[in-house]
Amino acid sequence: MSFQEDTVQAKELTTMSCPATTSSKARSHTPTTNQDLAGLFECPVCFDYVLPPILQCQSGHLVCSSCRPKLNCCPTCRGPLGSIRNLAMEKVAQTVMFPCKYSSSGCMATMSYTEKPEHEETCEFRPYSCPCPGASCKWQGSLERVMPHLNHAHKSITTLQGEDIVFLATDINLPGAVDWVMMQSCFGNHFMLVLEKQEKFDGLQQFFAIVQLIGTRKQAENFAYRLELNGHRRRLSWEATPRSIHEGVAAAIMNSDCLVFDSSIAQLFAENGNLGINVTISMC
Ligand SMILES: [Zn+2]
Ligand SMILES: [Zn+2]
Ligand SMILES: [Zn+2]
Ligand SMILES: [Zn+2]
Repeated sequence: MSFQEDTVQAKELTTMSCPATTSSKARSHTPTTNQDLAGLFECPVCFDYVLPPILQCQSGHLVCSSCRPKLNCCPTCRGPLGSIRNLAMEKVAQTVMFPCKYSSSGCMATMSYTEKPEHEETCEFRPYSCPCPGASCKWQGSLERVMPHLNHAHKSITTLQGEDIVFLATDINLPGAVDWVMMQSCFGNHFMLVLEKQEKFDGLQQFFAIVQLIGTRKQAENFAYRLELNGHRRRLSWEATPRSIHEGVAAAIMNSDCLVFDSSIAQLFAENGNLGINVTISMC
């Protein structure tokens, strides 16, 4: 049977049986594609994929694991959700290549569901978040829009030009958790310097200083930064590759993958409660 005949038949059938609806689709005889299969795993609530472990309602409808806890009944049939595992769909899921979560932003990658989280974490199409420390600013957007955002919404941040500057943190003895932020422009790029003070439950204060590039991870690999505290016959320094703002600094600070010092060291280098950190950026 040719494709054309098939279409005509289906059209006639549609017209005869239910002229008012447009939902009945002409069935084609093309083999099921990977895309069709992936479509079966779409969550009816958030349109993300339902991935193993796959649970179904009593009538067999699927819903993803992040929507499920927020629902009282099946979003498709309103029946009870229960906790019926669908092992067959889980087996099928292992054979399907799923598109990246950021496919609508241009990512063409497809991968098995086990590879999805890692890819999406580093996917270059993932939107950038505001690089300012702390979770107060919820801005997200493309890399090109990060600097305009900072200039517009965070006007108070000072920018210094040059590859060798002093980042002066004032009033480092302020109680509680505090962040100091500054921008440094050199080599045609913008870097954000962050000094974060954290107070542990036992009252111990720790300082974390780090540099992030307003750019991709790949671009960040072209640079190195050095942070240095200079005092009377003392010096404390740290050198590393800047982080990309795409990965952010929170994980690095948590892992102490930055310049870390406690408040007694800060006192050794501070003058009148202000701490100067020498920042040098170089290309490598
Ligand atoms: Zn969902
Ligand atoms: Zn259902
Ligand atoms: Zn991607
Ligand atoms: Zn912001």
